[in-house]
Amino acid sequence: MYKVGITGGIGSGKSIVTNIFRVLGIPVFDADKAARRLMEEDPALREGLIALFGPESFAEGKLNRKYISNIVFKDPFELEKLNALVHPAAIAAGERWAEAQDAPYTIKEAALFFESGSAAGLDLVIGVYSPRTIRISRVMKRDGISREEVLDRMSRQIDEEMKMRLCDRVILNNDTELLIPQVLQLHHELLALSSDQSA
Ligand code: ATP
Repeated sequence: MYKVGITGGIGSGKSIVTNIFRVLGIPVFDADKAARRLMEEDPALREGLIALFGPESFAEGKLNRKYISNIVFKDPFELEKLNALVHPAAIAAGERWAEAQDAPYTIKEAALFFESGSAAGLDLVIGVYSPRTIRISRVMKRDGISREEVLDRMSRQIDEEMKMRLCDRVILNNDTELLIPQVLQLHHELLALSSDQSA
């Protein structure tokens, strides 16, 4: 199975791009969403979270996301511990999902690939790039939050230009370039690459 990754910083347009691929019939795995669900539901992860951050990690049986966020946002070492626990489980879930799909290629969407080491195993990584000013105003509007909150979230992600240099292809989502033609062109390229791989 030919595996494609789609990445980009907060508000770059990953979801809008993957939605176009979905319309084209390509299955998409949202790695960030899967990681959140596993933290809620996977018993081994639950035990691991309690071992790391204490019983307050779950309040009335439900994941206490706010409590954990407060710890990891203040301390990069705690964030690293959380990632070391959650990333392998999320990567394994993505692998199982991909093997079960019947499609020429699959897409895995994640804000962090290079940071988490999960770019390994992907045949090609697409970056979605939008200029910073556009990303800030899109996220303020989408999430109803202040500029400061958006900047705070952005400061926890690696530099966008550097991330794009690590990608094999880049989709430009800057309000002037048209998205659909760029995605269609990539889709045709990916169909050809995946059929070469399976030949
Ligand atoms: P996050 O990492 O925060 O989930 P994302 O990369 O998935 O972000 P999107 O949710 O796709 O980004 O886009 C951010 C917001 O900007 C959304 O409200 C989306 O509808 C809007 N948006 C993205 N691209 C465009 C565009 N080309 N034209 C108009 N609106 C757009």
